[in-house]
Amino acid sequence: MIRNDWLRAEIQEIYDLPLMDLLFQAQQIHRQNFEPNTVQVSTLLSIKTGRCPEDCKYCSQSAHYDTDLEIEKRVEVQKAIAEAKQAKASGSTRFCMGAAWRNPHERDMPYVLELVQEVKKLGMETCMTLGMLNASQAERLKDAGLDYYNHNLDTSREYYANVISTRSFDDRLNTLDHVRN
Ligand code: SF4
Repeated sequence: MIRNDWLRAEIQEIYDLPLMDLLFQAQQIHRQNFEPNTVQVSTLLSIKTGRCPEDCKYCSQSAHYDTDLEIEKRVEVQKAIAEAKQAKASGSTRFCMGAAWRNPHERDMPYVLELVQEVKKLGMETCMTLGMLNASQAERLKDAGLDYYNHNLDTSREYYANVISTRSFDDRLNTLDHVRN
């Protein structure tokens, strides 16, 4: 069971462990759950790069900052599938697709659903990170065969406004709820 209700005191306790004790514990848990000397490989493709309306201060893709980033519109499905085939041939078992959006618009949904379906046909796991999702979008991505959704918490609730002003910590939690459901 993966926990998502950690208390700060519990996290602090782990953080304060001597490094070698921490390594020892981590190794034991790793061996209980995974092949000890095998690494699962994923490949990440940016399917839409730059001009993001969000203002995350750590990100070169935000339209709010001048970062000299090469902007790229939506990658064509066939091009993305060619990249996925190449990734599989190189040993990746999971293909991740990321778009610099605040959230996918309804007009983007047929495109992302097709990507998921086509990558699944190759026998790979699929992962996406597209920004905020509503419940219906999460449901449709699941029905298309999406295995994983990446959505970072960014920082703490208290510090959130120092890093991002275009969305709230609760927006983040809402998307995570939809994805978990
Ligand atoms: S939402 Fe994602 S792509 Fe957009 S600025 Fe923030 S981190 Fe970058």
